[in-house]
Amino acid sequence: MPEDGSDSLKEYRLRKVLQAIAGKRGRGTELISLYIPSGRQISEAMSALREEYGKASNIKSRTTRKNVQDAISKVQQRLKLIERTPENGVVIFCGAIPRGPPGSEVIETYVVTPPKPITISYYSCDDKFYVEPLMEMIREKQTIGIIVIDNTEATLAVVTGKSVDIKGDVTSGVGGKTRKGGQSARRYERIREMELNDYYKRVASHADDVFLQEKGLTGIILAGPGQTKEQFRDGNYLNYQLQSKIIATVDTAYTGNQGVKEAMEKASEKLQDLAIMKEKKLVQDFLKEIGTDSGLAIYGERDVREALKRGNAKTVLISEAVDVYPVKITCKSCGYAEDRSLSEQELFTLEYTISNQSCPKCNANALAIEEQKSLIDEFNELANDTGAKLEVISDKTEEGLMLYKSFGGVVAILRHA
Ligand SMILES: [Zn+2]
Repeated sequence: MPEDGSDSLKEYRLRKVLQAIAGKRGRGTELISLYIPSGRQISEAMSALREEYGKASNIKSRTTRKNVQDAISKVQQRLKLIERTPENGVVIFCGAIPRGPPGSEVIETYVVTPPKPITISYYSCDDKFYVEPLMEMIREKQTIGIIVIDNTEATLAVVTGKSVDIKGDVTSGVGGKTRKGGQSARRYERIREMELNDYYKRVASHADDVFLQEKGLTGIILAGPGQTKEQFRDGNYLNYQLQSKIIATVDTAYTGNQGVKEAMEKASEKLQDLAIMKEKKLVQDFLKEIGTDSGLAIYGERDVREALKRGNAKTVLISEAVDVYPVKITCKSCGYAEDRSLSEQELFTLEYTISNQSCPKCNANALAIEEQKSLIDEFNELANDTGAKLEVISDKTEEGLMLYKSFGGVVAILRHA
């Protein structure tokens, strides 16, 4: 899988691959899923596979036995190419997938680098691949920091999807609003302010310790009852790197762990909104150019490809719903060539289909797939070559749907008209 491209593209690619893998079925119990977490040695996984290979010799069906053992060998071959377990671990799916009638199976292998560290060590041989842990990762990809604060205590937490990691409390030691007898009101107020200032600084320092080392922190939510969180925010106590990550300030009824839970519920809405807002904005920018007739907005596969090739595309938006795979088919015998635009499903069976077709020019049974690529991958390569930005847009919003239905799902904003 290519690693370059915008975040929306990376996420889209992984989701797409996993969906495709999840949909595959073996003819028998013969599809292998192997999860190797970062801490596990490749050699350990290898010896476990040798054992599985031995066990497979007991499988009664000759075809299934052969398919399972072939798949295990393929996985072993792939593992030999990996010297050391990658930082996030590695997942391999491998098995014989039918393309048509019995006997049409082709062994397919997928090596997936997880976007976050996997923690399970897992092997299965089933009639389908086990993709759930990776799917879960995409769903829960955002990591956010939460600070629930009022003037008596602050609780810090790191939240990833549904898992909450409480990172300790800081107490203020600041007295209540009523002053002791004998103190002047002004003096009392000054002491209280100094104590609060000191407390905010301690909270900020703890936040530095906890959040700065969190790789991939998407944002920080400030929460709590009353005005303390706003004072803390407006006083710029946080490290500037963290301060710039504050994405929301939300009211909660409680502090402590209960407050974190409350903040989390509100935060998940905010984060979803944030992703949707970004998408909407991208489409709206395009619609604005269309509306003002600036000549800077174009749409349609052919025009966008042309603009990319000329280096004139600034931003390219492609709808997730676009299901186009340009394919080049050639005849090995006479050199005949044709371009086809296929759907994903058609592409899947193409190898099998053309093996039963003869060349329209020389009639030989020698057609082969010369080149295949998804439209998104093709456009992303062109975009990378010319410094254009490519974003994948879902069809979950009104704007996203409009992008697909009214503009065919492929549009661009140009650098100059
Ligand atoms: Zn031919």
